[in-house]
Amino acid sequence: MSNAGKILITGGAGYIGSHTVKLLQEQGMDVLALDNLSTGHADSVNCPLIVGDLSDKNLLGKIFSDYQIDAVIHFAGSLIVEESVSFPQKYFENNVANGLNLLDAMVKRGVNKIIDSSSAAVYGEPHYMPIDEDHPRKPVNPYGESKLVFEKILRWYAQAFGLSSVSLRYFNAAGASLDASLGEDHPVETHLIPKVLRVAARQEEVLKIFGNDYPTPDGTCIRDYIHVVDLAQAHFLSLNKLNQDSGCFSYNVGTGKGRSVGEVVNAAMEVTHKMIPIEYAPRRAGDPAILVADAEKIKNELGFEAKYSDLEIIMKTAWAWHQKLLDNHKYKQQELQMH
Ligand code: UDP
Repeated sequence: MSNAGKILITGGAGYIGSHTVKLLQEQGMDVLALDNLSTGHADSVNCPLIVGDLSDKNLLGKIFSDYQIDAVIHFAGSLIVEESVSFPQKYFENNVANGLNLLDAMVKRGVNKIIDSSSAAVYGEPHYMPIDEDHPRKPVNPYGESKLVFEKILRWYAQAFGLSSVSLRYFNAAGASLDASLGEDHPVETHLIPKVLRVAARQEEVLKIFGNDYPTPDGTCIRDYIHVVDLAQAHFLSLNKLNQDSGCFSYNVGTGKGRSVGEVVNAAMEVTHKMIPIEYAPRRAGDPAILVADAEKIKNELGFEAKYSDLEIIMKTAWAWHQKLLDNHKYKQQELQMH
């Protein structure tokens, strides 16, 4: 692939962002990360990093005039569903208003390609399974709504300004880089796999399973876990797509295979050889019983293949990363302070 300019990666110091920076660099691409480091880590990227926020229009203007940017991969945003229900303004500000600042800076400079981090949360309660891209989009929380609004904005910007985009609707991102150099390290952890591994590492006493009365074989929720390296690859393939075709595209990024919370806990015990105490807790608000992607479109149109998304590989890579965090005393006391 030939690119005259750089790829700007917003949220490049975050979990999926840093894996994408790494993969693009391995492909010989010239990348530049922009991150406000509210949840990301400067030492996760090995490329030029601008520390700043997408609310800063002057900064955005300067970046697009100082650098020749060929395309943008946009990860920066807020992503905790529960928090979005209590603090919707943060989600519309970060995921919509700040995203608009980015688009406007791009349009001003004629940068016409963007890969957007969307989510399975745009679909809301599933009407059928697996979920394909044409499934009705009726988000049930402000997080999903903010992602859907941004997808819609991209459609109107395509029409008005010829901006081409790929919106990648992630299912459940998990795992860590194969060399354990990068992984998930959020200031507040709410996701299942890191929570399970924190219990295995004896950083938390017990894993709370939110609901065991769902209409699934073991009564716990089923999700489609996709390895973060596969997810990074989906961004690379999306860039290729926009170098060939213009338009507005959306793809699910998942495996088509669902795993229950119970299966995840068992896989964690097998990989870590640790006992993981569990406790059943009430259902978490807004959790559908089953969310599994129909992942055919991205396979057929972009040649995407989920190579590392076996639960065992996800768990092994995530565990290696957790052990590294533990060795480096980087585990933080986590208190759920939402703001
Ligand atoms: N979950 C759980 N205990 C936890 C965290 C998550 O039982 O400590 C469940 C959650 O209810 C959901 C599944 O694990 O059914 C995946 O949740 P996660 O937050 O990882 O991702 P989500 O599907 O919400 O994006």
